[in-house]
Amino acid sequence: MRRGFDFDASLCVACNACNAACMLENGFQPGTRSVRSWNSEALPLFSVINLSMACNQCEKPPCLEGCPAKAYTFDSTGAVIHHQDRCMGCRYCTWRCPYDAPKINEAKGFIEKCHFCTERAADGIEPACVTACPTGALRMTELDEFPSAGIEWFPETGIKPSLRLRGTDHRSGPLIIPADDPGPDEEESIPSVVATKVLKEWSLILFSLLVTSASALIIAYALNGDVPAVKLPAVMLTVALIISFAHLGVPSKSWRAILNIASSPLSREILMVIITTAMAYLNWFIPGTIHPFIHAGVALLTLISADLVFFAADRSPALKLHSGQLFFSGIYMASWFIVPSTVFLVFSMLAAVSVIMRYRSLEKGQLIRSLYYLRALSIPAVFMMLYPGREITTTIALIVLIAGIAADRTLFLDDFSPVNIKETISDHFNTEYEEERNKQRQNAGLS
Ligand code: SF4
Repeated sequence: MRRGFDFDASLCVACNACNAACMLENGFQPGTRSVRSWNSEALPLFSVINLSMACNQCEKPPCLEGCPAKAYTFDSTGAVIHHQDRCMGCRYCTWRCPYDAPKINEAKGFIEKCHFCTERAADGIEPACVTACPTGALRMTELDEFPSAGIEWFPETGIKPSLRLRGTDHRSGPLIIPADDPGPDEEESIPSVVATKVLKEWSLILFSLLVTSASALIIAYALNGDVPAVKLPAVMLTVALIISFAHLGVPSKSWRAILNIASSPLSREILMVIITTAMAYLNWFIPGTIHPFIHAGVALLTLISADLVFFAADRSPALKLHSGQLFFSGIYMASWFIVPSTVFLVFSMLAAVSVIMRYRSLEKGQLIRSLYYLRALSIPAVFMMLYPGREITTTIALIVLIAGIAADRTLFLDDFSPVNIKETISDHFNTEYEEERNKQRQNAGLS
């Protein structure tokens, strides 16, 4: 038997007593259990949904599988426990969880997540959120197998959340008192969300660029010994590691980053970056220690391992064909140094095809549109600068190439969209709204 939450949306009045009880009982920040309301003003014709959610203690939890620091374990009842004293604050679990359950505590640097109130459970008492719920919407239940939600807006992920959802098909709910803050889904404009996401990830973008550039130099050196690639990759990779270290919420726990090589793509990426860096230093201080082809092979594996961190959370084909992935970017950059230059021409054409396929980026905010134009224009601009054959124009062409790759990497991060319940629900209700509006316009003879 598995324990899990049993939530009846038709009884929930969004009073947030469960949220408050979770904070008071566990000292968590607000929102570790969150109540989300859609159509909180109860406008007629549209569905009213209140959804109280915390961790669903999944049977196959991707948070636990992907955590590089092994901060997650199962307890004897199958609940997924997050150990704050083992957490280094890398936030990878927030990408992996489709239910938006692990939340970073910015002040403390580590993750906070529901654990079924373990201390109360040891005394045979139900979790604080359940005892605080005044309407009985939130209860505990024990089932051999939790049924699939079977609801269009609830992500079907195959990870077996221990959650039974009921009462979600009503079109009008209980009397809702509109909240002062309707929540980010309804309030924030899309351009500001995108800009915030991109600016927040600046360290990740810089880390990616340094790893890509260093790997490209190592690969190019193996194929063309004229490339000055002895000291520079070592320095670049060291800076990349320092940036990733500084990006952690709890840098003192960074040594835990490679504890979960067996199942965490992030652990594997970090290990590969460390190995590539160590090889670069060996070749710097004891020239010829590592054969260039072996070093290039390891650099290629590093680029692949970095891409797998993203592909494990977002398996969409669009992302796999994105020219902003590290593997492609690294080879593209390395091809700059390869003779004959037809190799570079072929990679430039592949990059151009990828950019054309992503024309929908032009429908996004100003920042993304500008980056898209920069990426698109950089490809022909490189060839225009190469044409005169002078040293100065060739140097400018290289700068334009790197700027285009940097823009593409940022676009990759923007397009990276792991399954997340916030987005699936927003998509569902926006579609519902548009369909209803079109129907009404047709009935009124307006279209
Ligand atoms: Fe992990 Fe999210 Fe499932 Fe909780 S709901 S076990 S955090 S994947």
